[in-house]
Amino acid sequence: MWCPRCKEKETKVTDSRVVKELGCIRRRRACLACHYRFTTREFIEMRYPRVVKKDGGRRQFSETKLRNGVSRALEKRPLVSERFEQLIAEILQQILQKSDDEITSRQIGGIILSALKRTDQVAYVRFASVYQSFENIQSFQSLIDDMQVSNVTQEEIDG
Ligand SMILES: [Zn+2]
Repeated sequence: MWCPRCKEKETKVTDSRVVKELGCIRRRRACLACHYRFTTREFIEMRYPRVVKKDGGRRQFSETKLRNGVSRALEKRPLVSERFEQLIAEILQQILQKSDDEITSRQIGGIILSALKRTDQVAYVRFASVYQSFENIQSFQSLIDDMQVSNVTQEEIDG
């Protein structure tokens, strides 16, 4: 690791800490030449499965879409961001465990539902209600495929 200040190649690790929720390792480093101190984060490069949609189409798994979908269900819920990160980490871990190269959008929905059930009952009911109403019209897969929960539906659940 090069020193960002003087470009010296020799730096010393003074502290390593695993940040569990984020799946990363944080290292404190010091440059051996100019003694500049800095921090690096080492992230695991996750290889997520492809998502199989109901129509048989495949797409790349998107952590951003997953985060958006889950945070929609948790809107206005008293959940600290640390706990949210734990929840996302939990869901991601299960997606990796239950899949090899591919996973269906239905399986992902099931994983999210069971994780929400253990975390926040209201968010769980919201997500499940949306699941149900979409099941009748279009199917749950399209919801998960787009991870868009309509505000109207949420207001109905809130009310
Ligand atoms: Zn330096």
